[in-house]
Amino acid sequence: MKPVGPIPAGYNAIGGELAIGGKRASKLVEEAGRTPLFVYSRAHLDARVAQLRAALPRRIGINYAVKANPHLAVIGHMAPLVDGFDIASSGELGLCIAVGIDPARISFAGPGKRDDELEAAVGAGVTLNCESEGEGLRALAIGQRLGKAPRIAIRVNPSFELKGSGMKMGGGAKPFGVDADRVPALARMLIGEGAEWRGLHIFTGSQALSADAIIEAQGNVLELAENLANDIGFGLPKLNMGGGFGIPYFPGDEPLDLARVGAALAERVDSLPSVLADSELCIELGRYLVGEAGVYLCRVIDRKESHGVVYLVTDGGLHHQLAASGNFGTVVRRNYPSAIASHYGAEPTEEVNIVGCLCTPLDRLADNAFMPRAEVGDLVAVFCAGAYGASASPAAFLGHGPAAELLV
Ligand SMILES: *Cc1c(COP(=O)(O)O)cnc(C)c1O
Repeated sequence: MKPVGPIPAGYNAIGGELAIGGKRASKLVEEAGRTPLFVYSRAHLDARVAQLRAALPRRIGINYAVKANPHLAVIGHMAPLVDGFDIASSGELGLCIAVGIDPARISFAGPGKRDDELEAAVGAGVTLNCESEGEGLRALAIGQRLGKAPRIAIRVNPSFELKGSGMKMGGGAKPFGVDADRVPALARMLIGEGAEWRGLHIFTGSQALSADAIIEAQGNVLELAENLANDIGFGLPKLNMGGGFGIPYFPGDEPLDLARVGAALAERVDSLPSVLADSELCIELGRYLVGEAGVYLCRVIDRKESHGVVYLVTDGGLHHQLAASGNFGTVVRRNYPSAIASHYGAEPTEEVNIVGCLCTPLDRLADNAFMPRAEVGDLVAVFCAGAYGASASPAAFLGHGPAAELLV
């Protein structure tokens, strides 16, 4: 037997079925008209933002990293809850604009911004998190052509990283950001050429569950920002301190101690160096905001046995849930939190392999999991599916098409 990851708080059973947002899984599938289906819970999104507001100093703004879940209804729900939006493409810009988000609240990071994307961003008044000298020059030229000063912050490639981070995005040679020692000269050039100076963006990593690691990274970020601001000779209108707050996916993962992160940050904010005293401060979070709010529901299409092993073959799979299948940034495949949604909370009685419908051995949702007995027609739930699910999986692979998505 292999354990499954911890099911997030806030999911309960109604009439023996998993309920999300007060609705039974079978009702949600009926509403959506089909499986597989991603269900996103408003109550979870609201609760998570409220926890962050309660734990973090008021001075710290919260940005939503749209790439974690770009479903239009989710972006729309987040719009009044958070302070800013971090986007990584003009496609994401279009989604933010479609739900009426003021471009002044949006910043655009990403190492390969095309000219047409820069033009859309500069034209709309979005802040560019500039990733290189070359990109800075292209943005200036586009600003000149449009007769509009580009709003520019510089994304710094710091020499340190967020320890225990699931995905390393700082430290050493990277395609992201500008090496710290080259930032002051670039900043002075951009300001001298008439860009609207917006400050710095320092992202150090992702999916950290250790409060100590996050506290240390935030200390390093503030110190680096202070040194760079002094070297640049201009204050920082804004400092995006990065994020990296992780969620528990696997057996043994402990949730991040948010209270400790907030307390340490409050101390630092109370004793900021003078060069940062007037800077607007924010963090940017993706999965921490939306990950636990999502559940992926799929249906058991076949129940079969091979060499004594029971397989529940579902209509879902890695084409919607690449991460849960273990093929997205993990070395050892471990089980995501999962359950038989049609018999939620029932006693487990058998060991099963839950797999997807794709013709590849990579398509696994849960290995050797101890579950209540499920038959053809029952629903399977995979939790922690609110981030990097629908939009981060190869939906065209094998032609089954995308999953439905529902915000409840
Ligand atoms: C992906 C990304 C994020 C969001 O990461 P999460 O792990 O989902 O919080 C934030 N900032 C930047 C620059 C990113 O690339």
